Amino acid sequence: MSQESEIKCPSCGKWSKWTNKIDERCPYCGAYLDAPRLQYAEQNRLNTEKVRRDSYLVINETDDPIVQMFKQFVNWLRWATFFGISVIYFVIVIVVVLYGLVML
Ligand SMILES: [Zn+2]
Repeated sequence: MSQESEIKCPSCGKWSKWTNKIDERCPYCGAYLDAPRLQYAEQNRLNTEKVRRDSYLVINETDDPIVQMFKQFVNWLRWATFFGISVIYFVIVIVVVLYGLVML
């Protein structure tokens, strides 16, 4: 079975084969055949990077020792909060499962 299908180019309107690749281009005009999906994927990638960059304070060598300690504390607090929420969620799931078993 072939994965190929036909797609109409959003730019020039000509039909061409495509293999459902996200960055496939029109063979006639070179436009991306699935620009919204490509944009969405790119946006997603950028967002993930941004979240990763913003979620922790960068500790610079040139920072004041107090500032470094403060940043380390904030980073630790953020990590602990995330970890704590995961643990609470896990405990709730366990309790619900146990409760379900008892009720049976
Ligand atoms: Zn085209």
